[in-house]
Amino acid sequence: MTQLPPLADPAFPDQNTSLRTLEYTVAALCIGVSLMVMGGWYMEKPAVLSIIPGSATMKFNSALVFLFAGVNLLIYRKATARTKVASDILAGASVLIGLLTLAAYAGIEIISIDNLFVSDPFSETNPGRMSQATALCAILTGLGFWGYQHQNEIAGHIGLIGLKLMALLSLISVVAYLLLIPSEEITSFFQTMAIHTSVLFLALAVALLLRNPYSHFRRILLGRQAGSIIYRKLLPVVLLLPILFSFMLLLGIQKGIFTLQFGVVSYAVLIMTLSLIYVSFIALGLNRSDRERSRLEEDLKQRNAQLDQFKQGMDKTAIVAITDHKGVITYVNDLFCEVSGYAASELLGRTHALVNSGYHSKAFYQNLWDTIEKGDVWVDEIRNQSRDGQYYWVHTAIIPLSVAHGQQSEYLAIQHDITQRKEAEALLKSEYVKNLEFKNKELEQFVYIASHDLQEPLRTIIGFTELLGKDVASGTAENTPLYVEYITQAGQRMRALIKDLLDYGRIGRSKEKVLVDLEQLLSDIRKDMNQRIKENKAMVKVGQLPTLPVFETEIRQLFQNLISNALKFQHTETAPVVELQARELPGHWEFSVADNGIGIADQHKERIFTIFQRLHPKSEYEGTGIGLAHCRKIVELHGGDLWVESQTGKGSTFYFTLKK
Ligand code: ADP
Repeated sequence: MTQLPPLADPAFPDQNTSLRTLEYTVAALCIGVSLMVMGGWYMEKPAVLSIIPGSATMKFNSALVFLFAGVNLLIYRKATARTKVASDILAGASVLIGLLTLAAYAGIEIISIDNLFVSDPFSETNPGRMSQATALCAILTGLGFWGYQHQNEIAGHIGLIGLKLMALLSLISVVAYLLLIPSEEITSFFQTMAIHTSVLFLALAVALLLRNPYSHFRRILLGRQAGSIIYRKLLPVVLLLPILFSFMLLLGIQKGIFTLQFGVVSYAVLIMTLSLIYVSFIALGLNRSDRERSRLEEDLKQRNAQLDQFKQGMDKTAIVAITDHKGVITYVNDLFCEVSGYAASELLGRTHALVNSGYHSKAFYQNLWDTIEKGDVWVDEIRNQSRDGQYYWVHTAIIPLSVAHGQQSEYLAIQHDITQRKEAEALLKSEYVKNLEFKNKELEQFVYIASHDLQEPLRTIIGFTELLGKDVASGTAENTPLYVEYITQAGQRMRALIKDLLDYGRIGRSKEKVLVDLEQLLSDIRKDMNQRIKENKAMVKVGQLPTLPVFETEIRQLFQNLISNALKFQHTETAPVVELQARELPGHWEFSVADNGIGIADQHKERIFTIFQRLHPKSEYEGTGIGLAHCRKIVELHGGDLWVESQTGKGSTFYFTLKK
């Protein structure tokens, strides 16, 4: 058994309001007319009872049937338990009136209901009794309501048959009135059916038919397909033309304008011609829309072919996946399988969580879902993990596909492998590249400062050579030894600078690392520097040192420079104390060279490691400003760091690390 919809009609949602309006209008008509007629009976006003003078009157009982039907129309679709009972009672009452009347016609007078409420002074035969057709329609009205109310196929069909019969009966009566056929010429079955009775029954039948779910009439009239559209177009013609021509035919014959034979022939010809013209118009329209449909079909085929080509192209170049609205994979192409390392059978039915690398935050995926659920396209880069644990980057666009009931039902993901680009980017950001940039900057600085510092002794040489030249020209040789000494000193300084520069540039160029016993190395250095240590009355303490694989010459230079600086940058009155230590840390060794010298102010702690940067004039402390730059380069060559901690006036400790 099919359950019928209670209120809104889901089959024809667009027409719900119009259907409701129709129902309310018919209800208002039924109630209005019935009350008017009842009043007419009490006040004995024949004008409202028959409308057309001399024609049949609407009986009091018929008015009662319409009152019940009108009220029923207002409540029968409310679907509450109470309204259902009320609707059944009203329908039942109508059926009862009809049945009792028909019984009376058959000579079985159970209860005399004809003049139960008022007496009928106007009718000659059967005063107060509705026509047989009206009584039948009263029963059918009740069945129509009952059929809808009882929401099952059998009741629905019984109601439907009843309504169709009722429509037919009332239509015959209405048409007879329209054609002005006198009531005595109609069969006795209809004889006392009043004009408003027929119209109201017809309206009731149409309103109820349009709600009966088993009614073809309803389906054709309310449908959206071509058939329904044509049906609606034809309906006025089919209904009105015959009535109009019949009316003219009868009139012509009555007035003696033409004979019956001529009238019938003209009637047939006119109906045929006009129907043909009208049907031709409709056929032309149909042909036009058919052509349009074929064109659209052709267009669609072409677009489908294009789409197919597009898909083939995309499959070859992009990683493609389709998921349902929950993200469950329903399609993957070969490239997806190739890149992810999973077989299609392993991917289908799973979500993209299978290739999730855990790299992105929850918020990242939340944003993805928020975007696509809104129906927007989401584009970004995702790092995924393939079956063998390898990471791969994909530039991804996720496109919401079809929309069903306001929701996205599928998502298409188009991806491109950008792992190589990502790796290149990562390399660019890496330490190696940063180091390279740093080295470049250092080199620029180096070239700038080198050219600058080399100018200075050069200027001295040129200046004193000019003076020497003048002396030679004038024959004075008084200052010559002094000038020569200055020139020689400047030359030596240039040589030292150039040598230092060359040494700096050469660091780490050639040899390989060798295992060096650093304690032994330090003892050698101490021997080399013995003279200086003695002169300065200095003390150099060396702690326990490891044996490590290093670039020997460079490491020797590193220690030499640091110790030499520790001896050099000293207070004149104190004896220098230099202390060398090493300690093992995870991953590297840390060395320290501490002195009790003049110390370094905080703001200079970085600057001193730049080539040619000095804090004192040469007159105060001799030097080229290259030593510490040299040291840093050596330490970096061994993958370590060099830095200083110091307190001005109290001494400095230079630290450096060497990777194990
Ligand atoms: P140089 O010794 O030829 O001047 P360096 O590059 O070795 O060049 O040193 C740069 C500067 O760092 C020095 O001029 C000095 O001002 C400062 N410096 C280096 N070592 C020490 C130290 N042990 N104590 C105090 N200052 C130092």
